[in-house]
Amino acid sequence: MSCKKKFLSFFAAVVLSLSLVFGATAKTSAATADLIGAAIQIGMESAALNAQINKEIKHFNETEAGRQELYNSFREKYGVCEDAEYNAMLDRIMANLTKGAAAVDPTIKSKPYLYFISNEEDVNAACTMGHVMKVNVGTFKHITNEDELAAIIGHEIGHGQKDHVAKNNKKILRKQVMANLASAAVGSTIGGGVLTQLVAQAAFNQTVAHGSRKLESEADLCGLDYMLHTNYNPGACAAVMQKFAELEGGSKRSGIANFFNPNDHPESTARRDVFAKKLFEYSDKHVSAKDGIITVNKKTLIKVAPSATMSSAERSYFVLGNLAVAYHKGLNKQAATVENGTVMLGNQPIITPLEGDEPAQVIADRLNEIK
Ligand SMILES: [Zn+2]
Repeated sequence: MSCKKKFLSFFAAVVLSLSLVFGATAKTSAATADLIGAAIQIGMESAALNAQINKEIKHFNETEAGRQELYNSFREKYGVCEDAEYNAMLDRIMANLTKGAAAVDPTIKSKPYLYFISNEEDVNAACTMGHVMKVNVGTFKHITNEDELAAIIGHEIGHGQKDHVAKNNKKILRKQVMANLASAAVGSTIGGGVLTQLVAQAAFNQTVAHGSRKLESEADLCGLDYMLHTNYNPGACAAVMQKFAELEGGSKRSGIANFFNPNDHPESTARRDVFAKKLFEYSDKHVSAKDGIITVNKKTLIKVAPSATMSSAERSYFVLGNLAVAYHKGLNKQAATVENGTVMLGNQPIITPLEGDEPAQVIADRLNEIK
């Protein structure tokens, strides 16, 4: 055995013997840190280290103990908001979306989400390995519509179900661990199992980064799919992107974080348009929305008025969502009617006119003409 090989196997043994409990307070001795430093200096890219990193990832991603450790460390790191109303809403959304997701991906049943509301004020949410998810309290403060919140959380479940952090971002994760391992060794103050800590740290970073454009698009489409298997309005996916595009363009930008506008995110308007296109397809190509105008069979149905909390465009995506669901269910074969001030198509509510909208009966009559 060469001197270098001998050293590496010794190093691997040291790493393996370190505490694997994340959050342990024991400090790595300076001698161990020096050892790691030396190993890195001689160009350690050993199979043993890679295997160990993979083992740590598997621990956090796939074992119940690891998931709980990551969950608890996230709660400690970001703080937990105990607001009863927000937590009740998140519980309800998670229950509904879990059912919706299970309809297209039953594996969710074997790894239910460990979620909480963090004390962060930015509008953001994140999902990491092990189906550990956090939703910032700022999201609840700025996005008050439950369907829109569900759209955001559905996106996160998409990241989780597709295993984005552990699988697609593994290379980035490993690179981060290696880089941090180098600097940590120099610092010699890392507590607990060094690799365990560093993998968890990389999991934090990867979670918040919201991945690549490709992964974001995949999470968006999964989220819409889950929404389509709930009673939530699927138009909320486009609507929340519209809200965000308006916030980006306005003066409220400062409170907005990565979920909506990181550099590697597709822009909100592009994401909105993809959602609208998907709903057009879902309606069997009967219904579309653009700039607040709803079009049915290429004829204008209405220009949707703004509400107290939504612009005309944002609110129009909810009308699009309702119409898309109605068409998808074949309810367009039934008459449009008005019930208690709401335009209905079959048993599907379409729009409840507000000040600025045309009267419900006028909208129903026009829908009957063009549907
Ligand atoms: Zn994302």
